[in-house]
Amino acid sequence: TARPDWLRIRADFPVLTRQVHGKPLIYLDSANTSQKPQQVIKAVDAFYREHNANVSRAVHALGSEATEAYEGARRKLAARLNVPADELVLTSGTTLAINLVAYSWALPRLKQGDAILLTRMEHHANIVPWQLVAERTGARIKVVEITPEGALDLDDLRAKLTADVKLLGVTHVSNVLGTVNPVEDICREARRRGVATLIDGSQALPHRAVDIRAIGCDFYAFTGHKMLGPTGTGGLWAKREHLQAMPPFLGGGEMIREVRFEGTVFNDPPHKFEAGTPNIAGVVGLGAAADYLDGIGMAEIEAREQALLALATERLQAIPGLRIHGTAPGKAAVISFQVEGAHAHDLATLLDLEGIAVRSGHHCAHPLMAWLGVPATCRASLAFYNTHAEIEQLAAGIEKVRRLLA
Ligand code: PMP
Repeated sequence: TARPDWLRIRADFPVLTRQVHGKPLIYLDSANTSQKPQQVIKAVDAFYREHNANVSRAVHALGSEATEAYEGARRKLAARLNVPADELVLTSGTTLAINLVAYSWALPRLKQGDAILLTRMEHHANIVPWQLVAERTGARIKVVEITPEGALDLDDLRAKLTADVKLLGVTHVSNVLGTVNPVEDICREARRRGVATLIDGSQALPHRAVDIRAIGCDFYAFTGHKMLGPTGTGGLWAKREHLQAMPPFLGGGEMIREVRFEGTVFNDPPHKFEAGTPNIAGVVGLGAAADYLDGIGMAEIEAREQALLALATERLQAIPGLRIHGTAPGKAAVISFQVEGAHAHDLATLLDLEGIAVRSGHHCAHPLMAWLGVPATCRASLAFYNTHAEIEQLAAGIEKVRRLLA
């Protein structure tokens, strides 16, 4: 098979032709949210132009077309994650997915003396819901620490996976360090001790093929907007036994079979957890995003991003005073860095004037920033639509700004 034509692929992303401050945009903030190819934009547009109706309610033609488009996208997403479609709850993103587990699964189960085990590299979305549940139940939160290169300390994980732990929450890929965690091994270890596992897949799905069944977790959360899809899309896969046992989190239309004031009979999963009108057009767009990614091939995407990462790492490491946070082998294409004498926000602001979009801040990972001993980092996060030339320009831009700030 032919190698992908990356320049032609890049041309699918309309926003990448933009100028910023009179310079061509160099978008290096894809871990924050990815850009969207015209195929996704067109799918959303076509849904509103040709098929728009609500799902699961109307018998008319548009109603069944909309339902089929929505459910078709669910089936497609489930198939590529290797899980049954009726175990995939569609949500507004990872945040809602994790909150759903926290409120429907954990809240009724946890009690004083129980523990929730998280890791030092979790995003706030996989910390704060657990704190809220811990406050209400009396459970406590324990934390797995990381090694100096930014990998999970697996000895620490095993030591803390004690009988009091009811749930282990781990990110698949760190949004700050790029570390790819060995989630299969971790879930096997947890299963052996009867501990349920939740994997935050937000930063994994954009970069690699994910087989949830092979991972062997209890819950897998993801967000659509980082994998070329529209904002306000994503999902939660959960084992069927959990979905059946869990009470609904939000109540309303769509999630019921019969409502009487004396009591309500809920719909079957996954609908039981999808109260109200969902983001139908967004989910259709997410289906198109999945098709787009698979059209290129996740293995090709991963190889391309690894090549860009290798170049970026080499160029940035050569800059005096620049330190990269997160050097674990096999990491994903995310580079958080510090430049001696330059505040991350100043660096990002001056890079923006060069047309280079990087994120500065805490990246919704305060506990990790505390461990790194910094208030903020700059982060360049790459996608397959970036080019080698853009990486060279990033390095040149940082050099220029470093001299300005020195
Ligand atoms: N977890 C991780 C690792 C993330 O990077 C993000 C997005 N920054 C989230 C969770 C939250 O995703 P969302 O805001 O789309 O719900």
